[in-house]
Amino acid sequence: MEQGLLTVDCGAVVRNWRRLVARHAPGAVAAVVKADAYGLGAVPVARALQAAGCAHFFVAHPSEGEALRDALGDAPMIAVLDGFAPGAHPRLVPVLNSLEDARAHAAAGGRAILHLDTGMSRLGLDATEAEALIANPAPLARLELLFVMTHLACADEPAHPLNAAQAARFAALCARLPAAPRSLANSSGLFLGPGFASDLARPGCALYGINPTPGHPNPMEPVITLEVPVLQVREIPAGTTVGYGASWTAPRASRIATCAEGYADGWLRALSGRGFGVLHGARAPLVGRVSMDLTTFDVTDIPGARAGDMITLLGPGQDADAVAALAGTIGYEVLTSLGRRFTRRYVAA
Ligand SMILES: *Cc1c(COP(=O)(O)O)cnc(C)c1O
Repeated sequence: MEQGLLTVDCGAVVRNWRRLVARHAPGAVAAVVKADAYGLGAVPVARALQAAGCAHFFVAHPSEGEALRDALGDAPMIAVLDGFAPGAHPRLVPVLNSLEDARAHAAAGGRAILHLDTGMSRLGLDATEAEALIANPAPLARLELLFVMTHLACADEPAHPLNAAQAARFAALCARLPAAPRSLANSSGLFLGPGFASDLARPGCALYGINPTPGHPNPMEPVITLEVPVLQVREIPAGTTVGYGASWTAPRASRIATCAEGYADGWLRALSGRGFGVLHGARAPLVGRVSMDLTTFDVTDIPGARAGDMITLLGPGQDADAVAALAGTIGYEVLTSLGRRFTRRYVAA
């Protein structure tokens, strides 16, 4: 093996989806597979979920939606969160993110999802636009409104008052619009309680093993393993420095394993001097700066370590959330940064 190996367990993704389905019943559960299913591979992940019964998928860009449609056939709903011009993608469902979107798509007709902004100030009709639509809902009559949706800003902080405020705003607006199915919770929203149930939840991260309940045990099953090859192991005397900036100095005679992954592969440079890899069942601390294509680990205490070994960087013992905490980011960014140079292996569901 000359490059890293990213193993994605599609069975684990399906089991995570089923867990959320059981939690959210009788409401349905979609799969958010934007950004190539958070870096894991949208086509194999979505195919496994479709085979398990998932009928609703969300992507961010129309191009992602078209590629997914080619892979999944005609059956499932594929919605595009960023929206698109009327008529531009007949096989996809636009999310209408403004009053102007709603009016433009109404002229063309067809299926759509209406997005109300209740606290993100990002996409979706703001309060003024929502009132205008309530006052004149005629455009909606010309659309097949599959869902009215909103997106929670603080679902990963259960005690945040914005959660209940957004749910209340959403319910109040929906009650004054023509009746349509509703879509509310993301992954963390599924764990906020019955007030956050809807006709369609939209989880992403939890499907991929990220903890939707930060600070509590992870209710989801791990999905990915990342192993990268050791290219070389060398002995250095005490006092020798390692890597750019000479940021680490060997405190004793040491053995350094240089591995074939770096920040160009999404092993964030902020991980310099932090964390570890697992080799022969033992932890090898990451030492020195993360380079573009290489990372160095201290294997002094792992006598069997040698070139050709695979060192595990992500797995059940060190998940994306833990690595993210070391890098000062979130698991989502660790997953979506995973590079294109890894060989991807999919374990069938
Ligand atoms: C990304 C996204 C989701 C999924 O969020 P997770 O936190 O990954 O579950 C749901 N809805 C919208 C609008 C999104 O942008």
